Amino acid sequence: MEPMSTGAFARVSGLSRKALRLYDELGLLRPAAVDERTGYRWYTADQVDRARLVAWLRRLGMPLARIATVVAVDPAAAAAEIRAYRAEIERETALRRALATLLADHLSREDEIMTAPTFVLHAAAASDRGLVREAHQDLAHADAGLLLVADGFGPIGADMSRVTVDAVLAHRPGSGEVLAALRSAVDAAVSGVEELPAGDGSGCTLTALALSGDRLALVHVGDGRVYLLRDGVLTRLTDDHTVAWPLLEGGSLTEDELASHPERALLTQALTPGLLPRPDALVREVRAGDRYLVSSDGLHAVLPRAEILAVLRDVPDPTAAVAELVRRVLTAGAPDNVACAVGDVAAVG
Ligand code: MG
Repeated sequence: MEPMSTGAFARVSGLSRKALRLYDELGLLRPAAVDERTGYRWYTADQVDRARLVAWLRRLGMPLARIATVVAVDPAAAAAEIRAYRAEIERETALRRALATLLADHLSREDEIMTAPTFVLHAAAASDRGLVREAHQDLAHADAGLLLVADGFGPIGADMSRVTVDAVLAHRPGSGEVLAALRSAVDAAVSGVEELPAGDGSGCTLTALALSGDRLALVHVGDGRVYLLRDGVLTRLTDDHTVAWPLLEGGSLTEDELASHPERALLTQALTPGLLPRPDALVREVRAGDRYLVSSDGLHAVLPRAEILAVLRDVPDPTAAVAELVRRVLTAGAPDNVACAVGDVAAVG
């Protein structure tokens, strides 16, 4: 094969002479020959593809050491490595986006003392009408600091959910004590619901998580649930406010058996005009790597606990995880609306 000078090869490959020298030194792209006397480098035409690949990977921002790995393996393995790099970029970007949103929110509220966020949620939400219900009354929301699920019922159940979620978002916790702030936001939702027409039996559940610093607050009314996946172990953090719940607490039913109990869906508490709910509330410390799931009963009454665990454990990306949970609910017949939010706790700073 005809040897090409460094200059000719630089033109064909789109790499500068300086870059070619660097890549030679780093072992990314060795010349086909080096003139011992003059030190001139010679390349061949069949090195152009590799040179262009190196140039594209550089443009992508891939670190040199990683480029060395990509160019050393066969095309299929190289493609897999580039996909893995892309997933890392997306995760990093999502985290930066989440942090930027959080900081902008703090500043736009003109909080006097800004609590430096030490953790953010890498989060996603999804909901679906399901395959049986005519109306879609479930709502889910997820962002860097908040996970919410509301499940409406009755003729104007969708309005109840909407008013509730909007009120919590409008009064979302800022600086200060996160549990008190989240409780105020839920009080605002209760007031919002009170303004809707009473008497037709409509209402909604609300399960909300808010993250501030290293504290996570949880406020809960109804039969939505919060699960925590930590170190591979799934823990339920909420009790259902239903007529059937004491059977589980008394030990006569398991969580999966409760799902088919006739009084499982009879709520003892909800956001509904004329009834003041007594929300459960708790605050806990988060750890990097914690994964939280907030779900409506259309998810946890349909999927067995082991299946929820499997998805949360095996699907690392939150957007893919909520999509997979909803997909499995649909496969299982989706008798109810379904909503869920997944948030992964990530350290920042
Ligand atoms: Mg439901």
